[in-house]
Amino acid sequence: MKQYKDYKDRYPDLFMFFRCGDFYEIFGEDAVVVSKILNITLTKRGEVPMCGVPYHAVEGYKAKMSVAGKKFAMIEQVEDPKLAKGLVKREIKEIITPGTILEERLLNNKNNNFLLAINRKGLFIEIAYIDISTGDFEFSEIEWSDGLNILRGEIFRIAPREIIIPESLWEQNKIIRDIFNQYGNITVNKYPLFFFNSEKNNEVLFELLNIKSFSDIGISEPKTDITTPATLLAYLRANLNENLSHIRELKYNSNKEIMTLDEATIKNLEIITNQQDGSVNNTLLNIIDKTNTSMGGRLLKKWIIEPLIDIKKIEDRLNIVSLFYENNNLLETLNHIIKDIMDLERLCSRVNAGKVTPKDLISIKESLIACSKLEKAIVGFNELKEIKNKFKNLDELIEIIDSTIKEEPATFTNEGNIVKDGYNSELDELKSIALKTKEHIEALEDKWKSKYNIPTLKINYNKIIGYYFEVSKGQVKNVPEDLILRQSLVSSSRYTNRELNEYESKILTAKDEIYSIENRIFNMVRDRVQEKIHDIQDNAKLVAILDVYLSFAKVSLNNSYTKPSINNSNEIFIKDGRHPVIEKKLESDSFIPNSLDIDSDEKYIFIITGPNMAGKSTYLRQNALIVLMSQIGCFVPAKEAKIGIVDRIFTRVSASDNLAEGQSTFLVEMSETANILKSATKKSLIIVDEIGRGTSTYDGLSLAWAIVEYIHQKIGAKTLFATHYHELTKLESDDNGIKNFSVLVSEEDEKITFLHKIIDKPAEKSYGIYVAKLANIPHEVIKYADTLLRSLENEKQFSGNDVVEKLKGQLELFDVKVAANTKNHDEIINTLKNINIDNISPLQALNIIADLQKKIAKKK
Ligand code: ATP
Repeated sequence: MKQYKDYKDRYPDLFMFFRCGDFYEIFGEDAVVVSKILNITLTKRGEVPMCGVPYHAVEGYKAKMSVAGKKFAMIEQVEDPKLAKGLVKREIKEIITPGTILEERLLNNKNNNFLLAINRKGLFIEIAYIDISTGDFEFSEIEWSDGLNILRGEIFRIAPREIIIPESLWEQNKIIRDIFNQYGNITVNKYPLFFFNSEKNNEVLFELLNIKSFSDIGISEPKTDITTPATLLAYLRANLNENLSHIRELKYNSNKEIMTLDEATIKNLEIITNQQDGSVNNTLLNIIDKTNTSMGGRLLKKWIIEPLIDIKKIEDRLNIVSLFYENNNLLETLNHIIKDIMDLERLCSRVNAGKVTPKDLISIKESLIACSKLEKAIVGFNELKEIKNKFKNLDELIEIIDSTIKEEPATFTNEGNIVKDGYNSELDELKSIALKTKEHIEALEDKWKSKYNIPTLKINYNKIIGYYFEVSKGQVKNVPEDLILRQSLVSSSRYTNRELNEYESKILTAKDEIYSIENRIFNMVRDRVQEKIHDIQDNAKLVAILDVYLSFAKVSLNNSYTKPSINNSNEIFIKDGRHPVIEKKLESDSFIPNSLDIDSDEKYIFIITGPNMAGKSTYLRQNALIVLMSQIGCFVPAKEAKIGIVDRIFTRVSASDNLAEGQSTFLVEMSETANILKSATKKSLIIVDEIGRGTSTYDGLSLAWAIVEYIHQKIGAKTLFATHYHELTKLESDDNGIKNFSVLVSEEDEKITFLHKIIDKPAEKSYGIYVAKLANIPHEVIKYADTLLRSLENEKQFSGNDVVEKLKGQLELFDVKVAANTKNHDEIINTLKNINIDNISPLQALNIIADLQKKIAKKK
């Protein structure tokens, strides 16, 4: 217990699995917790609670601990208890935490398992994250002032299992705690700040990455002290005690290369998770992921949330997809080959961690054979030249594994059955001895039977005296003198001689020797694989890339997608676009395609009205998804698409409460809107599906109106704005870039049909009561609502016409030119500038608007 306590004092936040003979024991309060997680019996020794698991079944229990997100250490006996004087010496062999798992069965093959470190300097945050099971290692710097929306999006995208954070950053910032806490099962390691500030750690990092400074990986003007990559490494080294040489590259994510998607957009567009249960079902990922390998799956998941913004890079991707799309033979051939490729990235990590099994070596061999077939199959295609040239030739390694390791070897390294016959003559001989024991014994028996002339002589074996000749009492008199008596029984005597003794020791040592020679050969092969680990990783990356292209091509073929053309204009033109997920859920061909022609230079704000269920949300999202798909390099569900690259896609879609964070629906709605208004540019695409509906009608309408005006006059972004406020349709004019659209509805004999067709005029009325009827609201309620509606409309109170007249008077609010002529324009502009939209309540917003109105009225 003293020894146990020593460890516990040193690592108070770890559960200790303390090896005692054939068991791992857990003591004290930890035992109470662990027994519940592992569902094992809790006992007591004296007053101390304890529980334990047998050593041979420990892997399963380790798995359960990891899944529960726990950190624990395996403390092994490091000397033979029989020989130990006093207490058996023990050492920590392994510390297992959720972010450092290598066990394949604990990992989701199409997801990365990231450990993330975060730190802050002034107005910037740095994050580094690493997947030790694949070697993926990335670094980003993020502005703090952005309401942390970008960080939120990044954390959502990365989905780390475990984080390392300075104590002070964690303790002092609720917003940071909220960001991580909302993703549930994250293990948080809080360390004092000095843990992040070690120059020595950087030396180790630079050596591993083979760089001299961070500018070698493209970080020329760092905004932070770049402490997190080295901190991650220090943490891994302290815990894992393993070779990390498969970690070779730190990728710097600069905003210049990829489009940043915030959390709201990733969620609203249901790119990787759906909004019902957070699973991958009915998401874009689910539709376009037809990858055959785990590596391809992980890469596709990365690409789908990192659309490109460089025209050349997008076109390069599209051209390769096009090649596969048009060349069916090539597609089929590669698809067939790639199926045989196992998760080489994770196999490499296991090789480095010394955890590779004989079976893994066969997987590596077969995967490498497939890689070389893949390489040969892409020779001669210009689009694939760069990929082809990057493949590393590993024939020699294939040959080494092939000549040594059996096709179906044992799972473990200490039980023999690993090495092929014919590779090592000493091993072959030993194996034949072990195999032919029975025949040998029979031959010896015959030989001595006739030599001693004792027909009943037998050779037997028992554990105490080993091999012996057994002679019945009646024959003992014939036993020659050179036989040595071992045991006398009532009915027989047992003897041995030199030859039998020698044979016995040969058999017994043969097995041990077989194991040790097989192990030696296995280790030799493993070392040879390890020498080539970087080449294997390179090939694995190429396989992943090809797999994603093949997946894009297959999906495009199966779903009749077309190749988008990409340009640098401000226009998005989509002819007969479809929603990639919804079209699959409907019966074949029942999806009604819709087009879009929007251009930040001419007409760029589309106000879309129409009844519920008519298809407004679908239309909005399908256009955003088509742009996103184009910019990741995939074909798109449309007859034709010409996409002027967008710098960001913003979405404000339907109400979603974030109660876990204590935010109401309306506050979430306004925060998302604030983020859009602050960050969008003329090159952005904004989709807004309802705004201001979480508050009173006039409140909401005023806000919606003001927001449209702001986007219109100050941002100029391409905007699709779906709303139930019909009043907004009055904003349209021939030359201001605002256009009205609606969804076609047919009304015949009281029967209303939604035709799902977008037309370029405003909706004539809303059909809320009709939809309520569809939803089986009791007839009396429907009837009463109908009467009320008519009377309200007659009173003109509810039509909003008078409100529109009032609001129209404010059209000049954001018009700087007009405002510049006003006496108090500075005051107005300053008031607006200084509003912290994140922090004000709707009521305060309204008051401000009322104040501003008063000021303008005064001026008039
Ligand atoms: P609400 O205002 O209630 O959010 P909405 O107008 O946004 O409604 P959607 O949610 O887009 O309506 O569409 C409702 C349903 O209509 C979809 O789930 C789909 O089944 C069907 N639908 C939408 N668009 C189409 C289309 N283009 N072709 C065929 N069916 C469609």
